[in-house]
Amino acid sequence: MNKIYQKLSIGLIVLAIFGLLNLQCSANKNDHGFDLNGMDKTANPTQDFYQYAVGNWVKNNPIPDEYSYWGSFSILAENNYKVLKEILESSASDTLAKKGSNIQKIGDFYASGMDSVKIEKLGFQPIEKQLKSIASIKSKSDLINAIAWGHKLGGSPVFNIYAAIDAKNSTAHIATLSQSGLGLPDRDYYTKKAKNSVETRKKYIEHITKIFKLLGYAEVASEKNAATIMSIETRLAKASMTRVERRDPHKTYNKMSLSEIKTLAPNLELDYYFEQLGFGTPTNFNVEQPEFFKEVNKMIKQVPISDWKVYLTWNFINRYAIYLSSNFDEANFEFFGKYLQGSKIQSARWKRVMRTINNYLGEALGQLYVEKTFPPDAKERAAKIVDNLKSAMKNRIENLEWMSDTTKSQALHKLSSFGVKIGYPDKWKDYSNLEIDRKSYIGNVIIGRIFSFKRNMEKLGKPIDKTEWGMTPQTVNAYYSPTRNEIVFPAAILQLPFFNQNADDAINYGAMGAVIGHEITHGFDDEGRKFDADGNLKDWWTKEDGERFDKRAQKIFDQFDSYFPIDSLHINGKLTAGENIADLGGLTVAYRAFKNTDQFKNNEMVNGFTPSQRFFFGWAQVWENNMRDQALRLRIQTDPHSPGKYRVLGPLSNMPEFWDAFGVKPGDNMRMTNDKLVKIW
Ligand SMILES: [Zn+2]
Repeated sequence: MNKIYQKLSIGLIVLAIFGLLNLQCSANKNDHGFDLNGMDKTANPTQDFYQYAVGNWVKNNPIPDEYSYWGSFSILAENNYKVLKEILESSASDTLAKKGSNIQKIGDFYASGMDSVKIEKLGFQPIEKQLKSIASIKSKSDLINAIAWGHKLGGSPVFNIYAAIDAKNSTAHIATLSQSGLGLPDRDYYTKKAKNSVETRKKYIEHITKIFKLLGYAEVASEKNAATIMSIETRLAKASMTRVERRDPHKTYNKMSLSEIKTLAPNLELDYYFEQLGFGTPTNFNVEQPEFFKEVNKMIKQVPISDWKVYLTWNFINRYAIYLSSNFDEANFEFFGKYLQGSKIQSARWKRVMRTINNYLGEALGQLYVEKTFPPDAKERAAKIVDNLKSAMKNRIENLEWMSDTTKSQALHKLSSFGVKIGYPDKWKDYSNLEIDRKSYIGNVIIGRIFSFKRNMEKLGKPIDKTEWGMTPQTVNAYYSPTRNEIVFPAAILQLPFFNQNADDAINYGAMGAVIGHEITHGFDDEGRKFDADGNLKDWWTKEDGERFDKRAQKIFDQFDSYFPIDSLHINGKLTAGENIADLGGLTVAYRAFKNTDQFKNNEMVNGFTPSQRFFFGWAQVWENNMRDQALRLRIQTDPHSPGKYRVLGPLSNMPEFWDAFGVKPGDNMRMTNDKLVKIW
């Protein structure tokens, strides 16, 4: 589950996995929503609850070759793909679809992407024009122009720009400038000295070399280009904030006027840059990383134009390689899919094209998807659980022993101001100005990208659209937005194993209930607590309560720092803190809500398990998964979410409710010692 600022591109989340509906995976679950066969009854729940609850599932569900991760989310996604494929295929074969309709656009986009014969024949010809334009850069102004153009096309060369909700004035948008420009997944990949990191850089250089050779460069020139790119990217990386630093919304909030930013980075020639971008010049900016822009300012002057050309060529080709002929596409997969994530083979072409369409026509596809899959009463059912969870959270806040009444009343005000979105948007995104045809796949991608960039930039100066969603309905996920102070649950997550009307209450509350509680708690985690009821970055805590919170949060940093999922790589307690706090808070609140159900009150046994025991099974089942070592390493370094296994072991070992349910005693693995015990919400 994610917490996203609206300023973040949703791409990250959509890419993560989207999925489901018409769930067929109930086949391996019993009627009550829990898969008894997935348990490993030889394991001891007091020592390793994850193994006990889902150990056999983990053993019996190896990762398919095309994936680097396999778990309940991916199974839902696969089911979902079948529904989406039907929509795509029927749209593509509907030659009578009205020109300009969503069906025509979806169908044409799909047909263009599936025409691999044409794509193969064209090689990199569809982007030759862009490559030539980079090659023709002669002056610094040309360079600025090319960067602006690169921003429109989505490669975020050198830095990034977008419109976001102003964190200190949540009724307005602000032009946001942020660090970017790297080809590897994180700035740390360029700086770490560990053997693994050194090897990754070597492989990355080899990969860049290979791509330049495919573009027709000689071996020596390609190697030289790779070294140039590495040197520019390393400089950008060293000036970049770490992911942990970027979690502090105060650090990344640096409001500046145009003249202030021009003084900070005169070489960016912002007047000219915005003229080239073509959306007018914004008056106010949030410069997320001023130090980064100081360095960029120096680099614009110091790095020779010839080197920038090489860098921009790479930035562009790296962004678009997956849409080109198979030699580019496969080389890209070899490095980013196989080497960095451990996948063995590429997904089928239709799945890759589907993901692309999901990025550029997400809500058009979503609208058709919802019509097919989302039952009208599902929204109501989910809304009821959300209400129950909000009441449970209210009760928790009122009874917190460590918080003063002053802060409590503020927290309750924030909770009562939460917006809730369920299923799908009331108002769908309008794609009428997006022209898609069957002529060129990459042409459609470029048009789609420019369209979404424009839609985002045109928000500047306009009021916030309250109906807007940051995820498509076909995404198996959920989020909290601190600047909107709202929780959002797309249609695709309101299904088994998260939620099902036939599942027993225990499973529904342990899974979907805890997910809802998780998103609610994001409003009060170490980052979310810094935003007020109106979505503004504003301190509403008394000094003492803030300190008490920090002390408690420190314990969860320490707890997760002590988990080593692979080799000597431990979870980054500070990077994952928000998610870990949300998991613990979400489960605690969901358990409280579950206690109000008749099933709990009557202590109904199912399959020999108590309601409380089944509640915790529900949570474990959500996180059952297998992950390749490479993907695990990548995620530990970049993902604010802890690996699934630790999302079970971590929070449960802090919960007396869990100890009681399974008879966990002091000294058992699943029980934190009193001095380390985390209790926040
Ligand atoms: Zn989350």
